[in-house]
Amino acid sequence: MESALVVLSGGQDSTTCLYWALKRFGAGRVEAVTFDYGQRHRIELDCAARVAARADVLHTVLPINTFAALGGNALTDTNIVVQDSVDAQTGLPNTFVPGRNLIFLTFAAALAYSRDIHHIVTGVAQTDYSGYPDCRQATLQALEQTLRLGMEYALTLHTPLMFQSKADTVRLARDLGALPALADTHTCYNGIQPPCGECPACMLRAKGFAEASIPDPLVERFHNP
Ligand code: ZN
Repeated sequence: MESALVVLSGGQDSTTCLYWALKRFGAGRVEAVTFDYGQRHRIELDCAARVAARADVLHTVLPINTFAALGGNALTDTNIVVQDSVDAQTGLPNTFVPGRNLIFLTFAAALAYSRDIHHIVTGVAQTDYSGYPDCRQATLQALEQTLRLGMEYALTLHTPLMFQSKADTVRLARDLGALPALADTHTCYNGIQPPCGECPACMLRAKGFAEASIPDPLVERFHNP
């Protein structure tokens, strides 16, 4: 029987992926890993723990302190304000943490190896997002190949959301029975609950739910406590 390791950030997409993995691999055959990379919004770690507990999966939190030491992006550096606009030179928003997904997936692979797990599930997508180059399919395919070679280990990276729009992902969450869990997720770049509703992350999330004509369980939680 195959089992899977889900990279769980505490957000909407990785939570949906956790339920995708539970359906695909079965209860008791799925674990989750979350990275504490010095993200300024510690609430993400609490959300990941709640989501994992609700889904009744083993949850490992691994520390990576190098991104915060590097600085220079709005997700780990409290001196940098999240910008809606993109950098003229790179074409990327200042929420881009260079190399983040590459490192996350490499450590996830190392954990998977130690657990004899051959499948890793990640919620990256190249549609609808900020154009992070480490979320593209070409990057993931190349990394999968690198990990297989570098660890001499049969490993498959699953990216069920790669070509899904935000609305598609919301509908998928509904179909997988993941909507209640989305009430425990965190998306807001300002790190607050109830979410600010105005930052790029909140607006993208709201757009997805609106296009799917499904109320956001997180918003509902604060409107109808
Ligand atoms: Zn927000």
